[in-house]
Amino acid sequence: MPLWRQPLDRDRILIRHGIVNIIDDRCKGCGFCIEFCPQNILVISNRTNTKGYHPPEVISGMNCINCGLCALLCPDFAIYIEDGGEHTPENVVPIHRHEVQG
Ligand code: SF4
Ligand code: SF4
Repeated sequence: MPLWRQPLDRDRILIRHGIVNIIDDRCKGCGFCIEFCPQNILVISNRTNTKGYHPPEVISGMNCINCGLCALLCPDFAIYIEDGGEHTPENVVPIHRHEVQG
């Protein structure tokens, strides 16, 4: 839904951007990074690593906000984020979120 009101300092707000790096052969396919990414930008890939697991892949890299949660949660240090600088909110595509039915 488009918002008709915008914050007055909108031009001054910048959003951090991260560049996601996945080390395929370290991944054990646990899915933690996919499950907990707040931007929902990771999915299971069709690739198979040397251990026989499917590592994650990035589906909308521009939406990574460099929160670092995926790297923090990964038990095998198979994912890390590089600083991609900052950009204006216009470059961030809104993410559809599923509502939890009570
Ligand atoms: S740094 Fe945050 S937003 Fe980016 S992929 Fe990892 S969990 Fe998702
Ligand atoms: S958290 Fe780490 S080991 Fe688990 S699926 Fe993601 S990259 Fe692979």
